[in-house]
Amino acid sequence: MNTVKIIGAGLAGCEAAYQLSKRGVAVDLFEQKPLVYSSAHKLNGFAELVCSNSLKSLDKYSASGLLKFELEHFDCLLLKLAKKVSVDAGSALAVDRVAFSQLVTETVRKLSNLTVYHQTVRKIDCNTPTIIATGPLTEGDLGCQLSSMCDGFLDFFDAVSPIVEYESIDMQYAFKSNRYDKHQGIEQETSDCKGQQLEGDYINCVLDKQQYELFYSELIKAERVQQKYWENIPFFESCMPIEVIASRGLDTMRFGPMRPVGIIDPKTSRRPYAVLQLRKENTQGNLYNLVGFQTSLKFGEQSRVFGLIPALKNAEYVRYGVMHRNSFINAPKVLNKSFEMKNFPAIFVAGQLSGVEGYVESIMSGLIAGINMANRLKDKPKFDLPSTTMCGALTDYLTRQNDNFSPINANFGILPPLDITIKDKKMRKAAMAERALIDLPVLYDA
Ligand SMILES: Cc1cc2nc3c(=O)[nH]c(=O)nc-3n(C[C@H](O)[C@H](O)[C@H](O)COP(=O)(O)OP(=O)(O)OC[C@H]3O[C@@H](n4cnc5c(N)ncnc54)[C@H](O)[C@@H]3O)c2cc1C
Repeated sequence: MNTVKIIGAGLAGCEAAYQLSKRGVAVDLFEQKPLVYSSAHKLNGFAELVCSNSLKSLDKYSASGLLKFELEHFDCLLLKLAKKVSVDAGSALAVDRVAFSQLVTETVRKLSNLTVYHQTVRKIDCNTPTIIATGPLTEGDLGCQLSSMCDGFLDFFDAVSPIVEYESIDMQYAFKSNRYDKHQGIEQETSDCKGQQLEGDYINCVLDKQQYELFYSELIKAERVQQKYWENIPFFESCMPIEVIASRGLDTMRFGPMRPVGIIDPKTSRRPYAVLQLRKENTQGNLYNLVGFQTSLKFGEQSRVFGLIPALKNAEYVRYGVMHRNSFINAPKVLNKSFEMKNFPAIFVAGQLSGVEGYVESIMSGLIAGINMANRLKDKPKFDLPSTTMCGALTDYLTRQNDNFSPINANFGILPPLDITIKDKKMRKAAMAERALIDLPVLYDA
């Protein structure tokens, strides 16, 4: 049987490698790091999370939670490893990104029938079974060739939020609690039945009205990194830079990343005027990232303007926020549901580049592409998932004709309606999730 070439040992490439290896298919995995790094990658290992360290909700009645549940049903390697290196983040699955990358690298390197090559692949050989999983920052010769095989790439702009040192956060103006945490801020409930301190996973940096308005006014006029080629490329709606959100109106941030709902300040026993939440970045808990504060401000401006949030006055930044191009292929035109190119049947495209959006969605595409590549080489039927499942609905969305195609995260809006009407939104989503779980096929070789 042919050896499969996987280009890119990111989230999708590693998951695809695992799915192929466990099905007895030999894999040559090509990764350009540590020789060459994209503008967003910094770690030398595989499966690097380039921005947030959160893989979102674990609640199976949320869209992302349902997606995870389905992937685990199909023996997804990366989610299993993520859980081993998780950090506390309420109901979300967040990981220590360095530990995660190290664990994935060690595990993938040990897979049977797998050889790793550290080199930049420049050419696609259309006769070799190949999974291209080079991510949204794909460029160079390989990018040009793939783009010409797809009639050009589509693009949007994405941004990364900063990370600060825990020691530098002024906890006089911040406190730990989760949103909607029953215990937060209430004196008599800050210890549990064993007398242990109950603390939330997030650090809440509070602002009163005056502080918020000063922060807002400085933020909207702060200096941004100017890039000519951004001008005609849209932002990804759910990853807007904070200064762009702010520019839409004084209160937009208070209904977005700085919303105070579900948070009570223990000092005042009241809901603060505005809140910036910080999430643990690593298991040691000495680094925190600014949730929802992705930005294109100049580095000096980030320290100055974010420093107007009292808890961050003296914050030490280990990583500043940055902006990046995010390229993807026009999936509805060029891909089929197996993640195989319609005009180049030996070539599969997986990960963010294939038109999915998000870490877990990228893992999903790697899983489906890997299983389908194995099935193709073994003359087995395609691995096709019902559209009532989140995985099936996402692949349907990706491959259905769409003149204005743009990537989306897992969401309930892409699932077909239920046969019965359920008015309550929460109950409707729960019923859709239950239907998906019933409809999940059993994979006998999983
Ligand atoms: C700046 C930025 C921030 C993002 N933030 C988030 C976020 O916070 N949350 C979220 O859910 N999603 C985020 N995304 C979107 C997406 O989930 C990630 O990009 C995700 O890592 C995509 O996984 P992937 O496997 O497709 O690509 P990647 O994880 O990027 O992996 C691609 C791999 O291919 C390698 N490679 C590239 N070209 C070559 C070549 N020619 N030869 C050999 N190797 C090559 C790279 O070194 C890399 O290791 C972000 C994307 C970007 C660009």
